[in-house]
Amino acid sequence: RSWIDRLKAGLSRTGNQLADLFSRGGKIDDDLYEELETILITADVGMDATNTLLADLRRHVREHKLVEAEELKAGLAHCLLKLLGPLAVPLHAETHKPFVIMMVGVNGAGKTTSIGKLAKYLQSQGLSVMLAAGDTFRAAAREQLMTWGERNNVTVIAQQSGDAAAVIYDAVQAAQARKIDVVLADTAGRLTTQAHLMEEIKKVKRVIAKVLPDAPHEVLLVLDANTGQNALSQVKAFDAALGVTGLILTKLDGTAKGGVIAAIAKAHPIPVRFIGVGEGLDDLRPFDAQEFIDALLG
Ligand code: GDP
Repeated sequence: RSWIDRLKAGLSRTGNQLADLFSRGGKIDDDLYEELETILITADVGMDATNTLLADLRRHVREHKLVEAEELKAGLAHCLLKLLGPLAVPLHAETHKPFVIMMVGVNGAGKTTSIGKLAKYLQSQGLSVMLAAGDTFRAAAREQLMTWGERNNVTVIAQQSGDAAAVIYDAVQAAQARKIDVVLADTAGRLTTQAHLMEEIKKVKRVIAKVLPDAPHEVLLVLDANTGQNALSQVKAFDAALGVTGLILTKLDGTAKGGVIAAIAKAHPIPVRFIGVGEGLDDLRPFDAQEFIDALLG
């Protein structure tokens, strides 16, 4: 199946409910809005973004004098694009050399997988990539990254022991010396000791800036779409600590909670650089709001 089919499958529960609602016939009335509200909340759009969307939709319906339920589909597409469109800001890794990307996120979100996919994506753009095994707390994370690097001919800077900041410091220096275009720096993601974790990744950020004053150029937060509204608190916590410049929303191929993207757009409008739509190396796509809405609404 193509990635767009997997994205559609992921969003299909919500998509089918919406299709049902719009194709049922009848007029636009309060009952219809109420059902739409329930569908949006169930899809993890959240109260805030749901209220915004519905208010905008009611306005749109009045302005365009829409009457039939089936006309609501195009109206919703229009309002969703207004909300999600501003999130679709692509990553431009060619603006600095080396361009340093700090990858953050809680364990299990898909950080390591996304690093592999992102490395492949950047290489396909003609950029050379180096990885820094900065998750020094999980030996498995380092091994996973090194195995991946060997298989794909990407240099991985790692240390048997030592702290994350030291590994990433080395990597940025090595990338400078070897004229590498992009450094992808992995970091730890234990959730249990969050205060400690945040202190550590803040230190990593400071140390990167010591090698390259304007780096890191991107702090990419990896979020599992399945966590729904919980993703919002992760955005809040990581952004407060680090200043998150971009998001990767993973596992959109297998969740009924894809609506969280609208909740993020409302509460923390940070660019969604990429979406994850599968476990394969090619299953990372630059976020395109129109494409996403088409996959949802068909
Ligand atoms: P980390 O702990 O954040 O480094 O997470 P991993 O990269 O190890 O990923 C955790 C699990 O999620 C693995 O089984 C991945 O294959 C899976 N995964 C990551 N991204 C995606 C995605 O976009 N779609 C699907 N279906 N699975 C994903």
